[in-house]
Amino acid sequence: MICWFFVAGLRLAAFQVSRPVRQRVGDNARTMRTAILSVALVTLVAGCASMAAYQAEQQGLADQATAALGASQVTVLLKGNTRTGQYIRLSRTVELGTASDEAGKTWLLAHELGHHVRGHINTYLEQEMEANAVAVQILQVWGRSEEDAVRLVGNRLLSIRTSGSTLTGKGHDWCAEFASLRSHYPQYPPRDPAKVNTTCPGTGG
Ligand SMILES: [Zn+2]
Repeated sequence: MICWFFVAGLRLAAFQVSRPVRQRVGDNARTMRTAILSVALVTLVAGCASMAAYQAEQQGLADQATAALGASQVTVLLKGNTRTGQYIRLSRTVELGTASDEAGKTWLLAHELGHHVRGHINTYLEQEMEANAVAVQILQVWGRSEEDAVRLVGNRLLSIRTSGSTLTGKGHDWCAEFASLRSHYPQYPPRDPAKVNTTCPGTGG
């Protein structure tokens, strides 16, 4: 929606500066302004189009996951340039920040969908652990092997712990969540136990 307001505003501005004028003085400046506005307009339209395509892609993944796990549909909304996400039970919406790398964004969508699948309302540590467990299932729905899914979730938890991210709510304890994941999947031990023990002591094995 914001995109369309911007586009309408820019179109109006471009029209204003490109109107025929009698004086030749200043024409160059007007031409330059028109060119700059045109470039801005094209850039904005392209940006909005790519955001719309990305939103549609995330919605498609969410629909695939909820259908596979027998849950109702959710609406995926993009939150902009942040690494945080949120699930809002009342409106059945998942809000996604888009600032993380691909693995980060993939985990975030799977994790927030996990809250939805489990019907979470609050943010307690146990619920964060459950959301991670469901995320492992959802990542497999999207085509990953179980091992890849477990490693992606585990690596994200360690990475967030390391970077000190403020991602999502108060219920998180990244190392406790990682330990929980490890206990459920002992068959996939960390490839670098020493490094894991540095991040979350005692969890590297
Ligand atoms: Zn969560």
